[in-house]
Amino acid sequence: MRTLLDLILPASCAGCRASGVGWCADCAAALAGPPLRVRPRTDPGVPCWALGPYAGPGRRAVLAAKERGRRDLAEPLGLALAGGLARLRTADRPLVLVPAPSRKVAARRRGGDPVLRAAEIAVSWLPDSQMVSVLRVWWGVRDSVGLTPGARAHNLRGRITTIPACPALREIAENAEVVLVDDVLTTGATARESVRALARIGLRPRAVLVTCAA
Ligand SMILES: [Zn+2]
Repeated sequence: MRTLLDLILPASCAGCRASGVGWCADCAAALAGPPLRVRPRTDPGVPCWALGPYAGPGRRAVLAAKERGRRDLAEPLGLALAGGLARLRTADRPLVLVPAPSRKVAARRRGGDPVLRAAEIAVSWLPDSQMVSVLRVWWGVRDSVGLTPGARAHNLRGRITTIPACPALREIAENAEVVLVDDVLTTGATARESVRALARIGLRPRAVLVTCAA
């Protein structure tokens, strides 16, 4: 019953459990600084950045959005993403956000894809930007929770692909900066496979930006 009520009206901050607000100013501040450069064990081949560590309010918010269906967090997490992107982007160049793919079954069970929603919100805050959701994970990929880094990389190898003839791809400007966005970066396996899939259609992300990095 508690969880059900949380879905309707968040009674407490997802980051620190302060009552009366879904995401408090202190927790928002924890993700509002300059993005941190991170180096995952599996190198995706492009610079990786995180809004914060996979700990504390950021971690709790990501888990609440992903595992507990806290849709209300898309707005503040998207805004935080926009803040990080505003610092990372090059002036006068269009920005293209590509959300990392989530396994469809997992996304459905969790009540939608929080990474996609946060990216949509981020784009709404950033001038001259668009989201291109072109990445997909093949069926049969197991949830990565509990897998070792090696098993995780093996699980994903070659399984992330792009949607064939995705119409949004035609709208990407020649000089656009592409940034892959995700909620969590742990081993780097998802980012690497995503970057590889984009490279196969001629898109080279300039950076990976995640909410939290382990
Ligand atoms: Zn809080």
